[in-house]
Amino acid sequence: MTYELKKPEVIKVECPFCGKKAVKAIYYPSMLQASSSQSAAAGRKIKYYRTKEKYEIVSGCSACGKSEKEIQKALKKRSVKDYTKRIEELRKAGLPTEITMRVE
Ligand SMILES: [Zn+2]
Repeated sequence: MTYELKKPEVIKVECPFCGKKAVKAIYYPSMLQASSSQSAAAGRKIKYYRTKEKYEIVSGCSACGKSEKEIQKALKKRSVKDYTKRIEELRKAGLPTEITMRVE
């Protein structure tokens, strides 16, 4: 069985309020996941599907003091697509994404 062993990473993202990279988020890379189903006709089947990469805000802003909930709310208003695009742009520009630790 093959898996892509990419693990979620804790990264720092820009605060939508003050623009400082002081908000912790968990980045879940796109990966393959297996799901098995059983049916009398077809026997046991394993399907693989690719999950979408996503970001989950896990802390408030340590620069301006906005709470995790306020930041999540603000990011929902913004297009999530724009936000992930912005992070990609920052990465391409060679700016540090400040990967601080890995999550098991
Ligand atoms: Zn802030």
